[in-house]
Amino acid sequence: MKYISTRGKAPALSFEDAMLSGLARDGGLYVPEVIPTLDHATIAAMEGQSYEEIAFTVMRPFVGDTFSDDDFKAIIAKAYAGFGHDARAPLVQLDQGHFLLELFHGPTLAFKDFAMQLIGQLFQTALSRRNERVTIVGATSGDTGSAAIEAFRGLDNVDVFILYPHGRISEVQRRQMTTPTEDNVHALAMDGDFDACQARLKDMFNDFDFRDGVRLAGVNSINWARVLAQVVYYFSSAVSLGAPHRKISFTVPTGNFGDIFAGYIAKQMGLPIDRLVVATNQNDILDRCLKGKGYHKGDTVPSISPSMDIQVSSNFERALFDAYDRDGAAVAQLMDELKAGGFDVSQGAMQVLQSHYDSGRASEEDTRATIKAALASTGELLCPHSAIGVKVAEEQRVTGTPMITLATAHPAKFPAAVEAASDVHPPLPPRMDDLYDRSERVTRVPDNLDALMDHIRKNIRS
Ligand SMILES: *Cc1c(COP(=O)(O)O)cnc(C)c1O
Repeated sequence: MKYISTRGKAPALSFEDAMLSGLARDGGLYVPEVIPTLDHATIAAMEGQSYEEIAFTVMRPFVGDTFSDDDFKAIIAKAYAGFGHDARAPLVQLDQGHFLLELFHGPTLAFKDFAMQLIGQLFQTALSRRNERVTIVGATSGDTGSAAIEAFRGLDNVDVFILYPHGRISEVQRRQMTTPTEDNVHALAMDGDFDACQARLKDMFNDFDFRDGVRLAGVNSINWARVLAQVVYYFSSAVSLGAPHRKISFTVPTGNFGDIFAGYIAKQMGLPIDRLVVATNQNDILDRCLKGKGYHKGDTVPSISPSMDIQVSSNFERALFDAYDRDGAAVAQLMDELKAGGFDVSQGAMQVLQSHYDSGRASEEDTRATIKAALASTGELLCPHSAIGVKVAEEQRVTGTPMITLATAHPAKFPAAVEAASDVHPPLPPRMDDLYDRSERVTRVPDNLDALMDHIRKNIRS
């Protein structure tokens, strides 16, 4: 299994090398050269299997010979052992034909743990075997960073630096990043918004002296291994509702397009997915684009669903690559146009995108109203991101096809917004209820590439 870049100019890599490098050297994202498929019988056999067993079947074909079957099984087992729910990704019913996939039972209470806990184990196994170390730098709108720090804290072969937009994340998100005491962990509060953090991260990857000097590795959702880990719960949830014998639809609260793209991969692999619905907040660039209005950046407006406050949705590049018939030069040109503000999608590519994805948006008011209404009608307390999914799913679902909405975070991760909407204070699960008592450690940094690279060089262990 080889991985190729969406911009067509970087060498093809193995799973291991694509995972360890993150971004391709031509600025593109790695995707599998061919998407493996699972036949009807293999998918049907997942019924009643554990999450870990399904994870092995789904991910094995993508990993090639990087890990033996036994090693890969052990990696999966360790990755999900720290979850607070035996089902890992339990499904609860909201209404006739509408289900909520709870992806927030991991150690940092958001779906990012599914990918990050796995990546931590994959990196650990690969790096100790190669006797190498890496510097992981990530940019976060809140949840990726905490999940990454949780996955890599204390690992010998890894230093981890996380850039987050100062003042724009929730207190729980911040504390999850600033309270770990291990000296390989560095939380950096940057002046700027998430897009600025993500842009500086991309700049670091494009500075090859720095990249090679500190052995930079990326775990943002541009990392293929993260997308792969997220494909699993599309299978586990769909099968528990009757796939592959019937079609299932999904609605996904979307920011960087990683989670929804994993659903598209599941569909390409043979899971009978009817609709994939992209749900955005007021930062609705993806909704506008999928409705045929082009992809044009505006200013990011802070919302009560901060993990979706995004204008440059990195993984959308992977969707464009397929929509443009895997023409790397065409994608590279769109990405150049994006730097100058935006681009229009060709008619042919638009048809492909619309054949896979529907979309909708929820305003701040819609989000609050949905939190309140869902609590009253189902007893389920939704985080603001999940509420956006539920609201858009309600508008888009059709009778006859079950709709699964992905609940991407635990309400206790966003207590202020949830309480304002519902009058209910969401308590942290008991296993982490001392979070507010731990002391914090963070460095404030400017939105300046040289200063950031300098800081990282000075603080890595050698
Ligand atoms: C990251 C995140 C999202 C957006 O996921 P993408 O893969 O970036 O589209 C939605 N909700 C929560 C809670 C998140 O942490």
